[in-house]
Amino acid sequence: MKRHPCNITENQMHQALREEEFKLFLQPKVHLKNGTVTGAEALVRWISSDGRTFFPNDFIPLFEQNGFILSLDHYMLKQACRLIHFWIKNHLPPVPVSVNQSRQTFLKPDYVSRLQELIKTWQIPDGFLILEITEGIALKNETELNSLLSQIRTLGILTSMDDFGTGYSSLTVLGNLRIDELKLDRGFLLNAAEPSNTRARIIMEHTLQMAARLQIPTVTEGIETKEQAELARDLGSIYGQGYFYGKPIPAEEFHNKYIICKK
Ligand code: C2E
Ligand code: MG
Ligand code: MG
Repeated sequence: MKRHPCNITENQMHQALREEEFKLFLQPKVHLKNGTVTGAEALVRWISSDGRTFFPNDFIPLFEQNGFILSLDHYMLKQACRLIHFWIKNHLPPVPVSVNQSRQTFLKPDYVSRLQELIKTWQIPDGFLILEITEGIALKNETELNSLLSQIRTLGILTSMDDFGTGYSSLTVLGNLRIDELKLDRGFLLNAAEPSNTRARIIMEHTLQMAARLQIPTVTEGIETKEQAELARDLGSIYGQGYFYGKPIPAEEFHNKYIICKK
């Protein structure tokens, strides 16, 4: 039996999925000008039967290797759709939910039909489901990718480019792919926040400006302090996410904290 460094066996992951040990956590995404919560990012946590919590970095690399990521990504999408459906059915004000999708999931031939089924089953209105993908998908043919993105958009689903700036061809990707949102990797902010690093601030500001000119809304990731929030806002980022605004919390907690009180 294959064992991962953190002691996860491949048998355990199937059982964990059946027994609903993969939990949907949500982190708020806020508007930097007024602090309003405008969305949430779904982040998976594996809470094993003995109460231990595993984080994505502990198991996603293994799942990407053994193909289980397809099942996990689909499960997380379904959980996000169920939650949006629940809010709407209960006349609560829903927020759009962003779900991370691995490259393998996104490029699977039956992906669009699976999305279509989810949207139909859970009656998700346009703009309430966002798929977060990374620059790695760009290794695929650009025309095919744009056709895929447009099929997804036809379903009323948006796409967001996650971890922007960490790949090897960020600007090419931005120029060629019609995505709906850009999430600047935390590295941008960390560098720009160093007082002596004027160059980093220039790069971040112009990246944000470029996105604005392309009419792509921007999210700065990893905001941990008030100063970083102000910096991201002053450099032109529209939205922000990070511990300063709220850590990822279980979906029920997010519901109580941000949805019920908005009603
Ligand atoms: P990501 O999509 O870039 O998510 C942001 C990560 O930064 C999350 O780590 C989040 O908890 C963390 N974070 C948020 N705010 C702050 C902050 O202020 N400071 C710092 N230092 N970190 C912050 P997490 O939850 O451990 O997830 C790591 C990565 O795992 C995610 O990066 C995403 O790429 C992947 N991931 C998470 N859930 C899923 C999933 O359901 N499917 C797939 N395929 N990947 C997932
Ligand atoms: Mg993400
Ligand atoms: Mg990210």
